[in-house]
Amino acid sequence: MEYYSSQISKLIEELSRLPSIGAKTAQRLAFHIINMPQDQVDALANSITEAKKNVKYCKECFCLTDKEVCPICASEKRNHKTIMVVENSRDLTAYEKTQKFDGVYHVLHGAISPMLGIGPGDIKLKELVHRLQGDVEEVIIATNSSLEGETTAMYISKLIKPSGIKVSRIASGVPVGGDLEYIDEVTLLRALEGRVEL
Ligand code: ZN
Repeated sequence: MEYYSSQISKLIEELSRLPSIGAKTAQRLAFHIINMPQDQVDALANSITEAKKNVKYCKECFCLTDKEVCPICASEKRNHKTIMVVENSRDLTAYEKTQKFDGVYHVLHGAISPMLGIGPGDIKLKELVHRLQGDVEEVIIATNSSLEGETTAMYISKLIKPSGIKVSRIASGVPVGGDLEYIDEVTLLRALEGRVEL
């Protein structure tokens, strides 16, 4: 039986597709939105549509940006010879917040997971290898310390080793199985400073 009008049901259904939004939260949000002033609802709907339309991958590091090249890759103040490899844009943001890393990034958009059928070809690895043909001195692998993150780190290290470029892995402080985005800045910084060469 339908409790609500079909349009409210549709809104609840769409909202409940979002990560960490359960049925109850979706319902609460839907009623909240319906009670919001029209201009706020328009602004919300517009910002979603515009972001989806204009946000794309930086053509160098593959982080999300609305420019061809993101502000980090475009900056002359950054050390373009040191590349930190992260799994996603959220991890990049976590390291940026420490304000202590002056290199550039490479966002893989995932990690190798044989269990989930995600292979090296499914993440931005080819693109990383391509970047290494430029003037690069060090690659810091900052994938999560989960099984997938470690598998990916090993794979990248083996891939890069023959090129003679220094490869290191962020170290102590990051708990095993920990997601980088939830770790505090001091811990992230310690992990970066204590990185070990692979
Ligand atoms: Zn970039």
